[in-house]
Amino acid sequence: MTNPFTPIDATRPHAARVYDYLLGGKDNFAVDRAAADALLAEVRSAEAAARANRRFMQRAVGLLAGQGVRQFLDLGTGLPTSPNVHEVAQRYQSDARVVYVDNDPLVLAHARALLTSHPDGVTAYVGADVTDVAAVLDDPDLATTLDFGRPVAVLAIAVAHFLPGDTAHRTMDRYREALSPGSYVAVSHFTTDLLDDAAARRAREAAARMRTGVVPRTRAQFADFFAGTRLLDPGIVPVHRWRPDEAETHAQAGAGLTDAQVNMWGAVGRCD
Ligand code: SAH
Repeated sequence: MTNPFTPIDATRPHAARVYDYLLGGKDNFAVDRAAADALLAEVRSAEAAARANRRFMQRAVGLLAGQGVRQFLDLGTGLPTSPNVHEVAQRYQSDARVVYVDNDPLVLAHARALLTSHPDGVTAYVGADVTDVAAVLDDPDLATTLDFGRPVAVLAIAVAHFLPGDTAHRTMDRYREALSPGSYVAVSHFTTDLLDDAAARRAREAAARMRTGVVPRTRAQFADFFAGTRLLDPGIVPVHRWRPDEAETHAQAGAGLTDAQVNMWGAVGRCD
């Protein structure tokens, strides 16, 4: 397990802890709750969006593992929230191998909950910045866990919007290039496309106030994360509309979820 580069900083809001608070978790500080509450005041549905995003990850991983994918690289893991990627994947493939990557020391502190692999499979945690692609791919724990000569599903779920400018695309391009045919890329990403102009402006302002910096991207920019892949049905949709299952349909009915509340594009592409 790699050491994080930065100590835990309780004086500034941090993405993983803000997200944890939105999901109803306990692993957050007052600054994170204040940042999340400010976000909630602007984007009242942020909590529902975080849950819808998490369910998207679970459906995507379930579909891929159900189709035989046994290797997963989860970029920007977040604090453990069961079911985590390996728990979903190992329901379908008990020997599934999962590498989690996050640069938040608090996520590292909770990584034990991610290292509860089924005995047939393996899970590993790499404490690294996902934009340092070489450091991630060359990490010895990753190298002993994943075989890039065989299909790997790379997950970037609600993480690329934390990467500024063209860093997000340059980073995802490099991960895609490392994949062999039959691999997959699953991405979800914050957008203001689904809002009217006034609401989009408010959401952008709220996002900019987050110290962690959240960059909304358009559908066209989102599509570029899947260059050279074939999108699975239904293509690029708000995350709650991506192959909704019974749990999703139920959650949507309960929360009355609209596209404008979710504000996240989601899609899964297959490398040929
Ligand atoms: N993928 C999870 C968590 C999303 S929250 C889910 O969708 O449920 C985003 C996570 O990405 C946080 O844990 C944050 O620490 C991590 N993150 C943000 N930027 C990162 C970077 N440059 N390198 C590694 N992790 C990053």
